[in-house]
Amino acid sequence: MINVHSYESMGTFDGPGLRLVVFLQGCNFRCLYCANPDTIPLKGGKPTEAEEIVRMALSQKAFFGKKGGITFSGGEPTLQAKALIPLFRRLKEEGIHICLDSNGSVLNDYSKELFRLTDLVLLDIKEFNPERHFRITGRENNFTLETAAYLQANNIPMWIRYVLVPGHTDFEADIRAMGEHFQSYSMIKRIEILPYHTLGAHKYEALKKPYLLKGVKENTPEQLDHVRKLFEEYFPVVFVN
Ligand code: SF4
Repeated sequence: MINVHSYESMGTFDGPGLRLVVFLQGCNFRCLYCANPDTIPLKGGKPTEAEEIVRMALSQKAFFGKKGGITFSGGEPTLQAKALIPLFRRLKEEGIHICLDSNGSVLNDYSKELFRLTDLVLLDIKEFNPERHFRITGRENNFTLETAAYLQANNIPMWIRYVLVPGHTDFEADIRAMGEHFQSYSMIKRIEILPYHTLGAHKYEALKKPYLLKGVKENTPEQLDHVRKLFEEYFPVVFVN
């Protein structure tokens, strides 16, 4: 069984084209800005048969066109890698393009197999500096960097996603260090800068949890432009999502 939090039909932000987005329950990070804090607890969600998800994807396949498909997001999907492997195999049999949105922190035999069945990994790099990464997520980024190296070594295409949080992830030195580290990675097909937003902040109230980034302002167009240009010094394709 796969533990699903929710679905979004015809999503356009999580991978190429029109997509069915499946949000999975449970995450091992605690990002200060998490817009889906209700997906973090491992408990909750709805246990779902793989075939039910295959049926949903097939019923929407006509809308996917050449580029679209299904995206697994969360939460952190690789926490359920073992249960997802047979589902990914089925989706491949049906010719459905699969994206996996991951924080890259789980690198074991199951997640490796899952990555190999994925057409495009949307790999979140929350910060390149390990201490600042820890402050943002509650975890260090060593496994995420190893996952990126694994994807590169196994010819698995990836988009790197980077949430730009003023005062937390907008340090030029860290962005340059990240550029130096990854600039030779041929499997990185795109860098996506995700502007920081407070759309999930109200959910914290409902969950009776403090929103720890209170007072942090959303990015100005100048900030986004500056960081886009910085990344462009290292990577050919950079988008602000
Ligand atoms: S990795 Fe994603 S789901 Fe997990 S806490 Fe961070 S933003 Fe939320």
